[in-house]
Order: sequence, then C-alpha cells, then structure tokens
Amino acid sequence: MLWLAFGPFHAMENQVLVIRIKIPNRGAVDWTVNSGPQLLFRDVLDVIGQVLPEATTTAFEYEDEDGDRITVRSDEEMKAMLSYYYSTVMEQQVNGQLIEPLQIFPRACKPPGERNIHGLKVNTRAGPSQHSSPAVSDALPSNSLKKSSAELKKILANGQMNEQDIRYRDTLGHGNGGTVYKAYHVPSGKILAVKVILLDITLELQKQIMSELEILYKCDSSYIIGFYGAFFVENRISICTEFMDGGSLDVYRKIPEHVLGRIAVAVVKGLTYLWSLKILHRDVKPSNMLVNTRGQVKLCDFGVSTQLVNSIAKTYVGTNAYMAPERISGEQYGIHSDVWSLGISFMEPLQLLQCIVDEDSPVLPVGEFSEPFVHFITQCMRKQPKERPAPEELMGHPFIVQFNDGNAAVVSMWVCRALEERRSQQGPP
Ligand code: ATP
Ligand code: MG
Repeated sequence: MLWLAFGPFHAMENQVLVIRIKIPNRGAVDWTVNSGPQLLFRDVLDVIGQVLPEATTTAFEYEDEDGDRITVRSDEEMKAMLSYYYSTVMEQQVNGQLIEPLQIFPRACKPPGERNIHGLKVNTRAGPSQHSSPAVSDALPSNSLKKSSAELKKILANGQMNEQDIRYRDTLGHGNGGTVYKAYHVPSGKILAVKVILLDITLELQKQIMSELEILYKCDSSYIIGFYGAFFVENRISICTEFMDGGSLDVYRKIPEHVLGRIAVAVVKGLTYLWSLKILHRDVKPSNMLVNTRGQVKLCDFGVSTQLVNSIAKTYVGTNAYMAPERISGEQYGIHSDVWSLGISFMEPLQLLQCIVDEDSPVLPVGEFSEPFVHFITQCMRKQPKERPAPEELMGHPFIVQFNDGNAAVVSMWVCRALEERRSQQGPP
C-alpha cells in the first residue's frame, strides 16, 4: 500500500496534536500541543483548569472505538490514551481520511458558570520546556512590526487572525467558491491574500471546518502557500494566506519549457510534501499554482477540510477539465488522481477540450516539446490510475531531474518580465 511507504510512525514524531476538550452543553475548546508524545497528565489537567476555572477536575475521559469512556488519572493512562489515539490517526491516514482531534471529557467538575468560551483557543506551542505551563493565548501583540518571518509565522499561526486587523485592498480574482483579496494585516504590517467564501452553514459545521483547517498550521514547506489563520464572520469564512505577487499560472501565456520544468519540479515537491502528510490536493490546476518575483512556486487550495469542500460543493458544480477520469466517473480518488491533474495542468489548454473519460488520453504535439517532457506528461496521464508514476517515480523522472537544480532565478526573471509586459500593456495607472 502506497501510504505506508512514507512511514507514518516517523511522521508522528513531529505531529502537532490537537486535543479537543469537550465541555458539557457548551461545545469544545481545541488545544494545540507541539509535544504530543511527551505530554504529561498534569499538563492536561492544567489546561482543563484554565478552560474550566470554577471546576475542580481530577481526571478526564476519552472514548475508545466502541464509544466506551475510559478514564485517565495518571501518566501511564495518558500514554495508553495517546498510543490508542495515534493508532486511530494512522488508520485515518492510511484510509486517506482527515485526522480527527483527540477528544477528551473532563470529569468530576462542577459546571463552569455562564462564561462564553466557545471558540476559545489555548496554545502551548512556544516555551523552552516543550510542556511549560499552558496559557490562554492573548490577542496579537501590537508592537509586532518588522518581525522576522519565522516569528511572524508563529504569531500569525496562533489562529488569532480577525477581521478588525485586516484592511482589504484589491480583488485578486474570483473562483468557483469565493473571492480572493489582497489585504494588509495591521498588527504585523504584512500583505496577505484573503480568500472569502460565503457559506450558509450551522455553527457546528463552522467549528468543524475550523478544526479541520488546523492541519494547515503544520504545513511547513517552501512549495506550499503559507497559512496564517482563518475566521468566520457571519456567513462567510476568510482564509488568510501568504500573498504571491506573481499570481497564479493560469494567467500566464505560453511558458517556455526551461521555465515550466522548474515550475514542475516545485509542484512535484509540493505535492510530494502534501502526500507525505497524507493530504491529497484534490484541486491541482494552474490557478492553484502560485508564483512570485523571487522565483518561488507554491501550491494553494488543497482540500484539507472535507466539510469546507462539501459546503462549497453544495453551492457550486464541482467538475473541471483537470480532473482525472476516475474522479469524473465517481470512482475512488487517490494520489494517482492528483498525478493526472499535475500532468494535464502542464498541457496547452487546447488539448483539454478532448473528452477525457471515453477517449484516449490527450497527447502533446510531437516536435514542439522535448522527449522527456512529453514522456512525463504522458505517464502522468495514463488512463489506468495505477500505471501513473508514484511520488518517488515523479521525482526521479528525467524531466524533473533535469530541472531540479534549485535555479529560482530562471522563474524569477520570467515572472518579473511577464509582470512588466502586463503592466506596459495596461498602460500607466
Ligand atoms: P476555483 O475556485 O475553481 O479553485 P480559482 O483557483 O481560479 O478557481 P480562487 O482560488 O478563488 O479561484 O482564486 C482566485 C484567483 O486569486 C486565482 O486565480 C489567483 O490568481 C488569485 N490568488 C489566489 N490565491 C492567491 C495568493 N495567495 N496570492 C496571489 N494571488 C492569489
Ligand atoms: Mg484557487
């Protein structure tokens, strides 16, 4: 089985653990822990104490696969709970499902009064001792101008983005589900891309989406768009990500092969990274490949939240020219389907007009492109999903190997020139 080749045990060591503390009749509080495997019983009680200050909690429970409650009162029992939880995570990963947070139920506590604690986030990320006393996170500090990007990412990644701190500027584009704006984040002085999607859904579903998006904080790759946080205001969700000044690939006309090759390398690396986290992209296409004037290429809009994807799908029709045949005909979706979309993304739009399900796969015109490029695309677009290259085969393909030289200057110069051309065509502002 392909998933196992990535070694889920290894991935687990760096896993950010999300513990969902359930509060009777009051929803839940999500607690993000960086040092999951080393977590102590006392740490959990400390956090429960902060969430339910009026109650005295001495133990908590979790549910096993049959829904039976198991009590935890010691480090030993904590270990048993964590190893049970990690085994369920592995199962979810192997099945390509999204990872559920670890749900716990505080016990022996008095009701916590009428305080509204919905949506409260508790973070214990920082701290030298890995499990220093957890603290309820404050609002973003106002003196955070000119932060280093790592520092900024940490602040922003605390899930503290909110509407008041954001000034919307230009519209970058409209998609099927929403609109993307260029925006200014006042506390950090940073430019963001904010995707706003209208969703008329229940509070429960909103919470589910927010918790599913948590996995994005964990994505840390130069080939994946940086995620800064998300929030709901009334019936719309705003998802804040890194702004890419070159925009998406769909707006560029014919891309020369030596540039396209470097872009393909980045896209393959981005996908390989997502797959290693057991995330399927599910929407690989040129408009979800972003470039900047530094020559970086990053993937965006991958489907980490099933609920978000479902909620959008209810409103909008969900097929496009980049989808694999097995997807269009409603069969199982897997890494191979992402690989198809990767192949077709790098073909000229003209060939996309062919009927993908019934006819032969589209092919590139002979003579116009190099042999390795044509071979790469053809392999990615084999009709039978299993015949398409596996992740390690993609990385080892001669077309990818040839351009895997880390030469960002090639892409950078091409982006800069294209933007320049666009500006001169538009005339003075
Ligand atoms: P779909 O909704 O079917 O995925 P789409 O990808 O074109 O289509 P959006 O994801 O809403 O739609 O994006 C709209 C446009 O906004 C994109 O085509 C892209 O040009 C621009 N865009 C999106 N994210 C960013 C970003 N982080 N930086 C710069 N531009 C972006
Ligand atoms: Mg998009």
